[in-house]
Amino acid sequence: MPNFDLTQRVAFVTGGNGGIGLGMAKGMAEAGATVVIAGRNKTKADKALGALRAFGGTAEFVTLDVTDEASCRRAIDETAARFGRLDILVNNAGTSVRKQPQDLTTAEWHHVMNTNLTSAFVCSQAAYPHMKGLGSGKIINIGSMMSIFASSYATPYAASKGGIVQMARAMAVAWAKDNIQVNCILPGWIDTELTQKAREQVEGLHERVLTRTPAGRWGGPDDFAGIAVFLASRASDFVTGAAIPVDGGFSVQS
Ligand code: NDP
Repeated sequence: MPNFDLTQRVAFVTGGNGGIGLGMAKGMAEAGATVVIAGRNKTKADKALGALRAFGGTAEFVTLDVTDEASCRRAIDETAARFGRLDILVNNAGTSVRKQPQDLTTAEWHHVMNTNLTSAFVCSQAAYPHMKGLGSGKIINIGSMMSIFASSYATPYAASKGGIVQMARAMAVAWAKDNIQVNCILPGWIDTELTQKAREQVEGLHERVLTRTPAGRWGGPDDFAGIAVFLASRASDFVTGAAIPVDGGFSVQS
């Protein structure tokens, strides 16, 4: 399947040391990409690297807090310098503070916006000259069902995930002439550390998701391997500015 082949491609995945990010990283590693995963937790990363290297290619970990702009720019430049190119950026790192809007502090608002949205802007901007230099590039942003819907406990999260879709569309328009495609994946409810916490904090969430999801199950990180390979590969060269749900039908159920 030459269209889906990622051999010789270099991918940088924020939050690729666990959850959905690791699911996408595994897909790209299996398709032949060199994968650099970036996050804060090294213990998680060591385990993730084992899984990625099992596919036979190169995988590395960079310690990175995505709310630190200078570190993001440095990590992306160093990755491009080390491997001689940067083909794929996945803006996946994300967090949430679950409170009613009236109870949120401004610091909590900024923390969620910086982690989920500003980091994606900064990393995309840092990746741009490397991709432009190559004459091609793929930027994959992770939105959410909260890019479309909202919940009372998710004000900054929904704002960041709505914003990331519009940011991707604007970048898609700006960078189409450089042959850089910018797209979003909108996950449904996926069983990860993030949602394990949500299930503890939001009563009845587990059952509500099962009832509302036509597929009748929570998603898993491995459900993101295929869409990541598609959006990272030549197969998607005419797909840009799209926001693609991977949600077991959650967003189409009335
Ligand atoms: P996880 O908590 O499993 O993964 C989140 C990842 O983001 C972790 O690997 C974490 O790395 C990283 N991360 C968080 N904050 C920072 C930071 N400041 N700097 C660097 N890395 C950071 O959650 P998911 O896999 O579920 O989430 C991945 C993405 O998918 C997020 O954007 C989330 O909003 C989105 N999403 C998830 C859904 C779900 O149902 N799970 C649904 C819709 C969207 P570390 O631990 O090293 O800090």
